[in-house]
Amino acid sequence: MSTEPQGYETPVCGRFAPTPSGRMHLGNVWCALVAWLAVRSCGGELVLRIEDLDTKKTPAGSVEAMLDDLTWLGFDWDRGPVFQSERFDIYQAYYDRLVEMDLTYPCFCSRADLHVSEAPHASDGTPLYTGICRNLTAEQRAKKALERNPGTRLMVPVVSDPVGLIEFSDAVYGTKQECLAKECGDFLIRRSDGIFAYQLAVTVDDALMGVNQVVRGCDLLPSCARQIYIQHLLEFKTPWYAHVPMLLASDGSHRLSKREHSADLGYMRPLFGKPEILLGRLAYLTGLKDSPEPVSARELLEGFSWDTIRAHADLGIPVPDSFFEI
Ligand SMILES: [Zn+2]
Repeated sequence: MSTEPQGYETPVCGRFAPTPSGRMHLGNVWCALVAWLAVRSCGGELVLRIEDLDTKKTPAGSVEAMLDDLTWLGFDWDRGPVFQSERFDIYQAYYDRLVEMDLTYPCFCSRADLHVSEAPHASDGTPLYTGICRNLTAEQRAKKALERNPGTRLMVPVVSDPVGLIEFSDAVYGTKQECLAKECGDFLIRRSDGIFAYQLAVTVDDALMGVNQVVRGCDLLPSCARQIYIQHLLEFKTPWYAHVPMLLASDGSHRLSKREHSADLGYMRPLFGKPEILLGRLAYLTGLKDSPEPVSARELLEGFSWDTIRAHADLGIPVPDSFFEI
């Protein structure tokens, strides 16, 4: 199955879809900046969606802190916030459709089972599920169900079936091809704790919200093929995709993460004082501007180009320690 590269479909509708886990982090700021510039530079509409599927993991006050950080940075949106935690009935309806298609089965594997049985991980680190629970008999399922609540897996086509060979075009990373059976295997659409899996919720949300432009971190590039497969089954359109290269630690060895305290906006906001100072440094570091002078998000609209983003596709963007010094 091939999804041909497409230009912008107009009118453009993009989204911010953060997971609320506390204050924003420089890495999220960078992805949000590119998503905002992408939409605003072509006069599109932006939806803010809070990806709080697992409400137990949402720290109190984290949504408010994140919205405050986004607003401080000068990013605005046209719709939302829409909370995934309030949309379980919607996910249930689409989940039921997949079940009715006879494409799902209960998976009783514990984390430890998976660890033992999973084939070596594909190059991008996505674990390959080998289908241990696919052919259990009704009796085996009933027996196992007494011991544990199952998750639900969506069957992917066999290797020889072209439907399971997903090809798509990414505005930054170019044409990508993934064979679902080889790269990830049957994947979860509902977890054993009853929470709908990210892949299902995101695909349903993007389609129902009319999102036709998805700009997000390149850590999500490996989940693209699974989402396109769900789009195919549910007869949703495939959006235009751009995955944003990551900000890295100063030596380029790993992705800038929550562990880097200095990259947390709780630390950076009082230090930098003004969002323009932070955005100016970030724009200079990433090549959006040729000097580090303070700049507003709106001032970066002029001259925004995907070529600048593409230039970092291979290596990512190391952030020098001096970035955080003022
Ligand atoms: Zn299983």
